[in-house]
Amino acid sequence: MRGYGMHAVNQVGWIEKDKPQCGPLDAIVRPTIVAPCSSDTHVSHGGSGPHSELILGHEAVGVVEEVGALVQTIKPGDLVAVPCVTPDWLVSGVQNHKTFSHDVGPFGSFKLVGSKDGVMAEFCHVNQADANLALIPAGVSPEAALMTVDMASTGFYGAEMADIVLGDTVVVIGIGPVGLMSVVGAILRGAARVIAVGARPQTVAVARQYGASQVISYKDGPIDAQVLELTGGVDKVILAGGGPEAFLQGLNMLKAGGTLANVNFFDATDTLTFPALSWGLGMADKDIRGGFCPGGKVRIERLLALIEYGRFDPTQIISHRFQGFDALPEAFDLMDRKAPDLIKPIVHLV
Ligand code: NDP
Ligand code: ZN
Repeated sequence: MRGYGMHAVNQVGWIEKDKPQCGPLDAIVRPTIVAPCSSDTHVSHGGSGPHSELILGHEAVGVVEEVGALVQTIKPGDLVAVPCVTPDWLVSGVQNHKTFSHDVGPFGSFKLVGSKDGVMAEFCHVNQADANLALIPAGVSPEAALMTVDMASTGFYGAEMADIVLGDTVVVIGIGPVGLMSVVGAILRGAARVIAVGARPQTVAVARQYGASQVISYKDGPIDAQVLELTGGVDKVILAGGGPEAFLQGLNMLKAGGTLANVNFFDATDTLTFPALSWGLGMADKDIRGGFCPGGKVRIERLLALIEYGRFDPTQIISHRFQGFDALPEAFDLMDRKAPDLIKPIVHLV
């Protein structure tokens, strides 16, 4: 089969491989729409994951091609959302961790691209189909379903980790596709005032459409000072963009008792430091949390239900649509270059 991926670090291209084998609990899926992600480009430049002859892509919807002999609820021909995080539910680590994202160690459940070939291919392998694949309800478009498997799951997780309650004032730092979903997640959880931080007009416009009360730019001066001037201190901060500096600024914006929830990937070479005063001298009950996209079937089914019943529309983050398998390199390159008008590209493979 044909796939698009990395031959080696910084060398992307077409890859020929055998069709994956289906284990007794597993499924083989034929992806129909995929979305390149910033995490794929990180891996292609030497981020974590196998670094040679690896098919990239971890966000897909598709049609089930084949299921293993022990699979009970999924059958060939089903239209499914493939979560980007597919835990091995038989590993005890999954049952010990509340998000199921870390089965055999940190990020262990991030298997597509993380430890095996991804979804930018004619076929992809999904472990434990009954527990990992989500059927797409008739009222949800495949494009909307595609935006749940990583973008909405991760962005909403920022709002969940921040433990947003009715009436909170929330800052979302970074309004790429993940942060935009955090804006939506914060509002769904009952935030009153949501201040978004971003600079590009395209993302600012979508943040406003999604209900952000105000948008400020990190290019207009330190964002902690801007937010403190506007609010005097906020209840919750979701970090979905910016580097270590934004982490410190987020901490500075928090009132006593506030929570900073991070969904950013920091680089392994980054160091996170902050003055004791930023953390309320260690005594201001400021929580710092960080976590990885939750996955598995039930997580995605819950997000699909929110779409089905009209609670949100994730397709506003789709900025570029490509048609055909041969468009994969162009879509991937767009993500890699971070084109100025890019939010999220998708590729209809068929
Ligand atoms: P993008 O790069 O698309 O968006 C980043 C955002 O941060 C943009 O709005 C950008 O503004 C803003 N930004 C850049 N620099 C600063 C700064 N100094 N201060 C404040 N804001 C800044 O990223 P994604 O939405 O794709 O992903 C967001 C983060 O989430 C990334 O770190 C990504 O690796 C991570 N991620 C984590 C996952 C998880 O499971 N935990 C899953 C997927 C992604 P502008 O563009 O306007 O300049
Ligand atoms: Zn992703």
